[in-house]
Order: sequence, then C-alpha cells, then structure tokens
Amino acid sequence: MIKETTPSTFNIGTPLTPSAVRALLCGSGELGKEVAIELQRYGVEVIAVDRYPNAPAMQVAHRSYVINMLDPEALREVILKEQPSVIIPEVEAIATPALIELEKEGFRVIPTANAAFLTMNREAIRRLAAEELALPTAPYRFADDYEEFVAAVREIGIPCVVKPVMSSSGHGQSTVRSEADIRAAWDCSQQSGRAGAGRVIVEGFVEFDYEITLLTVRHSGGTTFLKPIGHHQVSGDYQESWQPQPMSEVCLEKARKIALAVTEALSGYGIFGVEMFIRGDEVIFSEVSPRPHDTGMVTMISQDLSEFALHARAVLGLPVPDVFFRGPSASKAIVVEGDTDQVVFSNLREVLAQEGVQIRLFGKPEVRGHRRMGVLLATADTVEQALDKVKSAYEKLEITKL
Ligand code: AMP
Repeated sequence: MIKETTPSTFNIGTPLTPSAVRALLCGSGELGKEVAIELQRYGVEVIAVDRYPNAPAMQVAHRSYVINMLDPEALREVILKEQPSVIIPEVEAIATPALIELEKEGFRVIPTANAAFLTMNREAIRRLAAEELALPTAPYRFADDYEEFVAAVREIGIPCVVKPVMSSSGHGQSTVRSEADIRAAWDCSQQSGRAGAGRVIVEGFVEFDYEITLLTVRHSGGTTFLKPIGHHQVSGDYQESWQPQPMSEVCLEKARKIALAVTEALSGYGIFGVEMFIRGDEVIFSEVSPRPHDTGMVTMISQDLSEFALHARAVLGLPVPDVFFRGPSASKAIVVEGDTDQVVFSNLREVLAQEGVQIRLFGKPEVRGHRRMGVLLATADTVEQALDKVKSAYEKLEITKL
C-alpha cells in the first residue's frame, strides 16, 4: 500500500498491484456506484461491500464482499484482509464503533469514523447540532417506550414528526396531525426502523417555505459550498430535486454558517449534505450526511464535477477548484413498486428524445415493496423547465416487472 506523501494527498499507484490506492466502500448503492466510478477515473482500486450481492457499486468495483455491515466482526475481517488506504462509508447502517477502533489502529475513514458514528444516530447528531453548536433546530424530545412517547408528543405539541433515531429515507417516519395518529405513529416507528425497534425522536413540525440540501466539500484547500439544492420529499423520501434553489442572500449566508459549523465539528475530508428548512428569514438545521446525498444526484448534470467527483477529489486529498455550474437543472427519482427480481425499462427512445435529458439506471437486482431504481436528470433555462423535462420524461418511461 502506498501511504500518502503528506497527511492529506495520495500518490496513486497501479490498481491490482502493491502500489495501488485501495478504497473500500461500506455500502454499494447508487451513490456508492458513482463514487466507485469517479475513484476509478483516478486509477484507484475499488472494493465494494454491502449486505446483498450484485449491489450497484459491486457491478463496477474491482471486487466485492457480501457481509452484514452492522456486524463489527464481519466488517473488521474484510477491512483487515483488504488493508484499504481509505474506508468510505456510503450508508448509515454500519458498525461504526468498529470503524472508530480501526481508525485508532491507523486506517483512514471518510470523513472520520466519529462523523459516521454521530450521523448514524439522529440523537447524537441532533444533540451535537442543537446543544453543543447551538444551531437552530425544530424542538425535539426522545422516547424509548409508548408512555414516554405520548409524553413527548404532549410536550412538543401536534403536529409533530416521529422518526426512529436509527433510520433514514423515511423508514418508520410519520407525522402526527391529530390525537388519533399517536398510536399509529408509534407502531410505524417500531416496525420499520433500521434496528427494528427502539428509541424515537419526536420533532416539532416545521411549516417551512422550502427545504434545501447545501452540499459542502471539506478538502485540502478548505471548504467549498455548492449552490443550494431544493427538493420535494414524500414520506421522508426524495422525489425531485433541483439546483439552484432561489434563496435570499440573508438565508444563504445563514445556511452556509450552519453548514460550516456542523461540517467543521464532524471534520475530515469529503462531501457533506447539510439539510435545512427555510421559513421566512429563519434557517433551521435538520440533519447532515457525511457523504454524497441522494438529492445531490442533480449535480451529475448541473456541474462539471458532480458531488461524487468532488467526494473522490476530497478523499484523495486532491485540490477542489471552483466548480463550474452548467445551469438550472433537476432530478427525479425513478421509484419502482412491487415484488420482482427483474425490472425492464423501455420506451427509452422517447424518454431521452428531449435535449438536455439524461437517465441513470442503477441496475439493482430486486424490488421488494418500493425501491429507487434510477434517476432522470435534465438541464434547461430555468429550474421550472428542468423539472418539467424530468417529469415528462418520467411519464414516458415504461417499467415492466418480469
Ligand atoms: P429526514 O429523514 O429527517 O431528513 O426527514 C425526511 C423529510 O421529512 C425531510 O426532508 C422533510 O421533508 C420531512 N421532515 C422531517 N422532519 C421534519 C420536521 N420537523 N418538520 C417538517 N418536516 C419534516
């Protein structure tokens, strides 16, 4: 393994030889697939890890492992065997205490093992943001059982949002809009959280004007903010995103300050997706991913260097120059519902007939329930036109489940 010349910059050797820079991805979904492609453009050897075979990043990696990433022993075994130059978490559901140990033993975790540890748990990151950094957040309480939960809902008031502390992408999340929803919200949180059941956060419902992801890159030359990304979520899962989200200078400045504070606290090199709600002149921190963000897929068309390319640069300690913004752009998630091992996308001739429209199909091996299987991207003269393009392309897309 070639060690870095300074603490931050790698010399890049030849893949599949002892001089290779080896990157091990913990999580091999669509975001990891793009990171793998970007790393390979620099000649990095990529090892993809996930809990199921043929995950998207595995299909483009040099080799892969199927393990339960929440099992610290299994994770440690793969990492010790591979001796990666960098370990890149792509999902939250990882045995992060094992990463902390491995980091102490000299492995490099992106951005840091502690950042992965704190952000996997909504309680840890919320307490850091609200209590240590004094950033504005929605009011919140935590609850471990139904009785505590009812008390938390009473204190926060209705409407409120309920989420398992160990969850993402809307799993186990619901909104209590009346007394009648309380029981169902608890049951939902206990059935679908990542760890199956347990502690929840109850948050005051923020009547925001709009919500953003501010992609923030920490790299060897400092911190770079990308143009704000607006997005539309349904049940905690992203449907469309667009860039730039129009914002007042006052709000943009506040958003950057919040992003700077939280990313400095997490530290390390890499891209972060800082999610915030905007209500009037108020900017309210929601959460942060210390990795590329799903709403940031729009940057595959809107910028010369996408969020994945920027992550690769930052991770390797390479310079991140000013990013060239190509113009107003939008993305739309292609979500497939059903129960199938084979999905076929057709009518692509029509879908891609419009100028400025692109598609990414993730190649995921199965759908159980509903699953994001691809994304449509478009650029146009305005964000509205870009959104119209991805929506009309989506209407033309034909999806068959075999
Ligand atoms: P999260 O997984 O915390 O990012 O939540 C997913 C989405 O649910 C957010 O992007 C919002 O659209 C919505 N949401 C989460 N928390 C709140 C809140 N406190 N008030 C209003 N909407 C929320």
